[in-house]
Amino acid sequence: MKIGILAVQGAFLEQEAVLDQLNVPWKEIRCEKDLEDHFDGLIFPGGESTVQGKLLKELHLFDPLLTMIQNDLPVLATCAGMILLSEKIDGKPSPYFKTIPMDVKRNAYGRQLGSFHTAAEYKELGCVPMTFIRAPYVSKAADSVSILSVVDSHITAVQYRNQTALSFHPELDPDLRIHQKFLDLCS
Ligand code: GLN
Repeated sequence: MKIGILAVQGAFLEQEAVLDQLNVPWKEIRCEKDLEDHFDGLIFPGGESTVQGKLLKELHLFDPLLTMIQNDLPVLATCAGMILLSEKIDGKPSPYFKTIPMDVKRNAYGRQLGSFHTAAEYKELGCVPMTFIRAPYVSKAADSVSILSVVDSHITAVQYRNQTALSFHPELDPDLRIHQKFLDLCS
């Protein structure tokens, strides 16, 4: 098994460190050529969704990755990644993938002071630690979207078909179960 990690901007090194701990091979996706070899799952890291979205298009990664997502490649998206997958952003149609029928609110906890750590219930896993960094939350989701976690009455993790999208950063905590669950979907 091999996992592709989008590595154009943001917290991709932290994702690589988690996969190293789990002994799972990964490859960085930085340009079109990186899509030539097969990979079994794809991680969209945290970072800045506007920058990532722009680079995805400039580097000609956007269309092939959209096709892969639509063809059911398992995807784990954290924070900025969640924004890239959402159909709407702050109530407006997204210019990005739009592969999850939901609306996200960006920087939903405030721009500067919006970073915090907590622990909350996650579907089938019980209590997991969660680190939020200028995070979005899901303000509205279609009935077909499965809700995996809710923090302070806001949806912070969802599953839709092949896509797992998280408001928080599991790669920054020692609990590896969310990544393990994703890898189970990839194998
Ligand atoms: N605030 C960022 C955005 O809007 C997301 C932050 C993150 O990925 N930690 O894209």
